[in-house]
Amino acid sequence: MSFAYDVKKELCKVPEEKSCCLLSECYGFVLGCRSFSKSEIVLQSEHEEVARRFCWLLKEVCGITVRPLAPARSGGFYTVRLRESFNCLTILGAFGYSGDEPFLRINRANFEDDCCIGAFLRGMFCACGSVTDPNRDYHFEFSVGKYHLAQDVTALMGEYLSRPKITTRKSGYVVYHKESEKIEDILTYMQAVSSSMALMEIKILKDLRNKINRATNCETANLGKSLEAGRRHLDAIATIESLASLDMLSAELKEIAVLRRDNPEASLSELGGMLESPLSRSGANHRLSKIVDIANKLKLQKEQENS
Ligand SMILES: [Zn+2]
Repeated sequence: MSFAYDVKKELCKVPEEKSCCLLSECYGFVLGCRSFSKSEIVLQSEHEEVARRFCWLLKEVCGITVRPLAPARSGGFYTVRLRESFNCLTILGAFGYSGDEPFLRINRANFEDDCCIGAFLRGMFCACGSVTDPNRDYHFEFSVGKYHLAQDVTALMGEYLSRPKITTRKSGYVVYHKESEKIEDILTYMQAVSSSMALMEIKILKDLRNKINRATNCETANLGKSLEAGRRHLDAIATIESLASLDMLSAELKEIAVLRRDNPEASLSELGGMLESPLSRSGANHRLSKIVDIANKLKLQKEQENS
């Protein structure tokens, strides 16, 4: 099952203990409904738990009994549909609406205290929210049909958490977050604590994996470079030995040439450390570069003699 499903399943199990929060969660659900008007209130969800939670809230808060309709085909939506104007008006009225408002906006009079905001967002997320599997991407959203409602949700989240962004989509507006910390915060705020922890763990693992990959790439690149340099030194030493002799080198160059030849796998700092008067990595590199120059000159001389 998807990460979003796990979150919703967890949210649908939150025990709603205070009547103020019960009302706020129900309010979040109705505002997140596909349709919320005098003539029709419709919730659609892929998840049976979500549809059942909504029915339970409607019973508790508005005294209305309704049953979810199972999807007609597998993978379809569970639907909670209210068509009787009496029921629709009762629900609108419970949240302070007449049904004649020109714009659907959040009615903050429904929130008794700060505790109610988390409950409201929880209901809204169950009805119209989604969150991507953090193994793939960090994305959290509310898909909201109406412009003013999307603005109000953004402002409300901005006051209590961090302000999300808004974008448009064919079906309306999307209020979203793309940062893992902000998604963790809102999951915790809605009381999806286990899901928030799961996200955190996945993020830590992902970061660790990236770090290891970066370190490995870097090490491989460095190893490649020093192997390449080592090969150049060995070639140069072989050239000097075949065209002349290592005795032609000054004592300090000969010392490092012999060490290099006898320790082909040693790093520059290791070679530097083997010298009688030890040298740093760059000191060793400097001497070996001189040897490469001498070998190149010898080769050139030989070529000129032969031509
Ligand atoms: Zn409350």
